[in-house]
Amino acid sequence: MVCSRIRTAVSARLDGERLPPGVTAGQLAAHLKGCAACRLWEVRARQLTEYIERLGESDTALGTDAGGRPAQPS
Ligand SMILES: [Zn+2]
Repeated sequence: MVCSRIRTAVSARLDGERLPPGVTAGQLAAHLKGCAACRLWEVRARQLTEYIERLGESDTALGTDAGGRPAQPS
């Protein structure tokens, strides 16, 4: 299995999408077990995904929160 196909599958899985044709969950797991480069790639891709999700959440919070700034003691 080629690394680029595995990474496409990892990315799809992180996004909650279906695995691309020709890549099964078993093949994905087996490749990640044996390929440190793809494991590292998955960690980074997951961190990026979580970061983007947090950005989305804070955008929502800013939109609903009337105050915005924390109160400063004077
Ligand atoms: Zn790989």
